[in-house]
Amino acid sequence: MRINGATELYGIMGNPVVHSLSPAMHNGAFGALGLNKVYLPFGVQDVARAMTGLRALGIKGVSVTIPHKQAVMAHLDSLDPVAEKIGAVNTLVINNNAIHGANTDWLGANRALSEKINLQGASVLLLGAGGSARAIGFGLLEAGASLTIASRTQEKGQDLAKLLGCSWLPLAEADNITADILVNATSLGMAPQQELSPIAREALANFQVVMDIVYAPLATRLLQEAGQAGCQTVNGLAMLLYQGAAQFELWTGLQAPVEVMRQSLLTSLGCNP
Ligand code: NDP
Repeated sequence: MRINGATELYGIMGNPVVHSLSPAMHNGAFGALGLNKVYLPFGVQDVARAMTGLRALGIKGVSVTIPHKQAVMAHLDSLDPVAEKIGAVNTLVINNNAIHGANTDWLGANRALSEKINLQGASVLLLGAGGSARAIGFGLLEAGASLTIASRTQEKGQDLAKLLGCSWLPLAEADNITADILVNATSLGMAPQQELSPIAREALANFQVVMDIVYAPLATRLLQEAGQAGCQTVNGLAMLLYQGAAQFELWTGLQAPVEVMRQSLLTSLGCNP
């Protein structure tokens, strides 16, 4: 990568961002297409001042991650309607000082699942009621799927179910449900607690496709057991990759080099030789 006076600047804004895989993924993509662009980590505490800084410095595009996905919304010039419904922004596109907010998390999840199953008319059991579950839930409804949410904390789960117009049940009852698709959007199974799984092994035969959005480790206990139960599996890299590919396309108008981005992510996760 050669940086010069015409290099355009992109980045990720969050707190912390030190472990983010996005710089490797996006710089890999920029490099593969020979684009004079660079993507950097921005550890941000003060969102309002950061947004002023993005405009002042002429930064072209930014990924937004925890804990700023809601806070940035107060500082936008325009907002994508689906991001507005989701109530969270993970992508900023900046043109002539005007900041547009979008959400590609739901696109990433839908594309990852669509490689295995048609979402139109599919039934989905979605585990979790946090930020990711919210984006994934809205996205699945956009795609024509029907949804049930199961989560640990009743009030939070019921609030999300009400917002999405679907039913809710306690996570402990997820073992009794049958659906086409199971999505784990809790952090259960994430290192260092990789021995945990959100649902009993015996219940996995109730699903055709099981997607885990946890990506560290990639082969979670849930996915290992789902594979053994004969389910098709989708790991957390797929959503991460495809939400990034959608960001790349919003920023550049070019088709994202998905295979290059996948390899960059795998290398960052220590999965490539
Ligand atoms: P949030 O903190 O917003 O939500 C976490 C969810 O997990 C909540 O519903 C919470 O339950 C549930 N949870 C956490 N611990 C437990 C537990 N011990 N038992 C039962 N439920 C539990 O996090 P995010 O939605 O942002 O992220 C969730 C996971 O997804 C993380 O592992 C993250 O790394 C991963 N992720 C992956 C992405 C990808 O692209 N692949 C993108 C974003 C995140 P409760 O409702 O009770 O609080």
